[in-house]
Amino acid sequence: MAGIPAFDIFVIGGGINGCSIARDAIGRGYSVALAEMNDLASGTSSRATKLIHGGLRYLEYYEFRLVREALMEREILWANAPHIIAPMRFILPFHKGGARPAWLLRLGLFLYDHLGGRKKLAATRTLDMKRDAAAKPLKPLFTKAFEYSDCWVDDARFVVLNARDAADRGAEIYTRTKVVKASRDKTGWLITLQDVHSGATRQIRTRLLVNAAGPWADKVLEGVEGEKHAHNVRLVQGSHIVIRKKFDDSRAYFFQNNDGRIIFAIPYEQDFTLIGTTDQDYHGDPAKVAITQSETDYLCEAASEYFREKVEVSDIVWAYSGVRPLYDDGASQAQEATRDYVLKEDVSGGLAPLVNVFGGKLTTSRRLAEHMLEKIEALIGKKGASWTDKAALTGGEFAIADYDAELAKLQKAYSFLSASHAARLFRLYGLKAHDLLGQAKTISDVGEHFGADLYEREVQYLMSHEWAQTAEDIVWRRTKLGLRMSADEVENLKNYLVK
Ligand SMILES: Cc1cc2nc3c(=O)[nH]c(=O)nc-3n(C[C@H](O)[C@H](O)[C@H](O)COP(=O)(O)OP(=O)(O)OC[C@H]3O[C@@H](n4cnc5c(N)ncnc54)[C@H](O)[C@@H]3O)c2cc1C
Repeated sequence: MAGIPAFDIFVIGGGINGCSIARDAIGRGYSVALAEMNDLASGTSSRATKLIHGGLRYLEYYEFRLVREALMEREILWANAPHIIAPMRFILPFHKGGARPAWLLRLGLFLYDHLGGRKKLAATRTLDMKRDAAAKPLKPLFTKAFEYSDCWVDDARFVVLNARDAADRGAEIYTRTKVVKASRDKTGWLITLQDVHSGATRQIRTRLLVNAAGPWADKVLEGVEGEKHAHNVRLVQGSHIVIRKKFDDSRAYFFQNNDGRIIFAIPYEQDFTLIGTTDQDYHGDPAKVAITQSETDYLCEAASEYFREKVEVSDIVWAYSGVRPLYDDGASQAQEATRDYVLKEDVSGGLAPLVNVFGGKLTTSRRLAEHMLEKIEALIGKKGASWTDKAALTGGEFAIADYDAELAKLQKAYSFLSASHAARLFRLYGLKAHDLLGQAKTISDVGEHFGADLYEREVQYLMSHEWAQTAEDIVWRRTKLGLRMSADEVENLKNYLVK
């Protein structure tokens, strides 16, 4: 085995769970490598509703452990990443005879406010929908609403910043690299990696293997580990539509549908509204998941029940779909399947350990990583203590209260940027926006213009610091400029990238 690089921990999967585990582990002093077969966050982790939330709906399923942990994470994550995470108020309108009685909603929101050590986020309040501006875009169905707090996150950037921080601390992050085989003996694992561009393979040794392949977790067990008919995850499809904005309010809506399900309508990227999600079992290839016609119709119809102005299919400017890799607890309905996570270790016959991740949410990813590290410590020995609760994510090394002051500093240092351009760069990169812009003094210093406010300097930064390789990585995951760029502009970016 001489010459083969060796690590303490090898992670399969560059979604939020894999990247959070890699970051936590490297920070404790383990040597760590991670392989992602596509782009970071190209799986489920860029296809979420993008909330750091307790999950009000999960209280109905008595998921108190999960909701409490998730509620507590909101303020921890917001403080660690105040550039990509922001508080958001949600309006939950209700009327007599609605899907749930007011007392039940009030009880749920009371628990929501008190279960998770809320300090900075504003408490729930009741709105008079005859007076509040929140009623303006809605049909006149409601006399009351509750307004409560959760947080918003840029999901794909949340993943990439965890990977960036892990790499800055010494982890090896291999993207477009697929784990095609893994075999073990008592001393460790031999992992075969394949470069998905060239097809070339190479090998790596590790003491412990983490399977954080999300919707592919069972496939990894079958294909890589040789387990027959692995069945741990229940794949549940969820889709979203994005339309030109239907309302000006900075608050989001939480609508209860007649079928007992809920949908969100969320202010998105300044000029848009994000509407979702659906919940249906999925049996296909997770890589091919796409919104169906019936999901599109369902979301348009459900939102049209509430908004004065009908939501039409022709309003849709973008749609995306993802597969929740839920732990299969045997629930009958897709929306009832547990949203909690399960970490399962396999050390059969004294062989080198494997730990599988099933389920999990963006919101609980940091805690999931801490729980994973407890398992790892027990299996291969303890190194450093937990540390991620008070550690800023790349670019977020400033206090929440200083957001506006830091943005103003960026605007002053780069006065050639428009206010909206500076605001976008600060929201995405936080303090790293200064590194990205470097010595630029005029807009011509930031290079070729690709459309919207995307310039060569940002593209170069994304390639050199954030593993971006394709136009899709850049316009749909590292940024959401795909919403504002024309097909020709994206084509031009593609041509630039292959040069
Ligand atoms: C519609 C929807 C809405 C959601 N909304 C929210 C929300 O608002 N808030 C929240 O907290 N959570 C939300 N979630 C849940 C959350 O998005 C997921 O639980 C989370 O992203 C799962 O992350 P993961 O790392 O386990 O999986 P993934 O992000 O899918 O990552 C797994 C990765 O493994 C890679 N991989 C697989 N096999 C291999 C291999 N052999 N070699 C190398 N790489 C491999 C894949 O390419 C993939 O990138 C939502 C999920 C969905 C679907």
